[in-house]
Amino acid sequence: MTIPQDPALCIDLHCHSTASDGALAPAALVERAAERGVTHLALTDHDTVDGLAEARSAALLHNVELVPGVELSCLWKSRTIHVVGLDFDPTDQAFLSAMDTQNSNRWARARQIAERLSKLRVDDLLARATEHAGGEVPGRPHFAKVLVEAGVVSNVAQTFKRHLGAGKPGDVKAYWPELDEVVGWIVAAGGIAVLAHPRKYQMTATKLRELVSDFRKAGGRALEVSTSGQSSGDLGFLAELCRRDGMLASQGSDFHFPGAPWCELGKIMKMPDGLEPVWHHFREPVGVQAPA
Ligand code: AMP
Ligand code: ZN
Ligand code: FE
Ligand code: FE
Repeated sequence: MTIPQDPALCIDLHCHSTASDGALAPAALVERAAERGVTHLALTDHDTVDGLAEARSAALLHNVELVPGVELSCLWKSRTIHVVGLDFDPTDQAFLSAMDTQNSNRWARARQIAERLSKLRVDDLLARATEHAGGEVPGRPHFAKVLVEAGVVSNVAQTFKRHLGAGKPGDVKAYWPELDEVVGWIVAAGGIAVLAHPRKYQMTATKLRELVSDFRKAGGRALEVSTSGQSSGDLGFLAELCRRDGMLASQGSDFHFPGAPWCELGKIMKMPDGLEPVWHHFREPVGVQAPA
């Protein structure tokens, strides 16, 4: 049975802060979400939960329900996949230790990215990327900013196309754990694993069905069906994928920075009917009436 969605709820379960590659600090991000009417927010920084404490304080102040979140990088059949973890225990020691490992791996990866891009002859590439990351471990978007600043390419999109995107030298993925391992971390910490933005992996429908099947076998329970600025074709395709494998449906903007009207906090395509929302399965279910 599916329960009609409550129009008073505005749920965004995917966004980024300065704790990873977002432009807004966790508190400013939560404030912006509140201004845009978001009632339930998950901050899902790449491979870290370091922004959650600041986000939680801001959420109390602005009357937003904060759901513990993270977006983990991993490998499936040698491809980089993102898995969003929701509603886990953010104090779980094994989980925090896995985040420490991801962080060390990210540093080793950042060093290798800098090494692989050394032929571009940009002075102090790693140090400058780290500066863009506010002293934390730099990701590809931080390297992209330095390459644009140095005049190697004219904009971030071109940087990904030529140097950092799939198959290019800066696309270092050797450090990521396997899909089933990261799903295991989330499940062991009491959370729900969601396959993030399934349409972004440039996979055929057949390959994607195979991924969803392996994801489910590993303990994954939900697919991210609805995002900002998505085509209705993709929305329908993902809804079908969800129904086919009996997966729960999640939604999130994947907001990184202000100024991109097609990607804004809380601005999410309407979820197709007949799907079971992931938030009905949170430890404190959202939008489900308790029986009288
Ligand atoms: P990383 O975690 O270092 O692998 O960086 C992944 C992040 O890079 C994504 O979450 C996006 O924010 C950004 N990204 C990936 N592909 C592109 C692209 N083609 N153009 C701009 N940003 C991108
Ligand atoms: Zn990102
Ligand atoms: Fe992602
Ligand atoms: Fe993301």
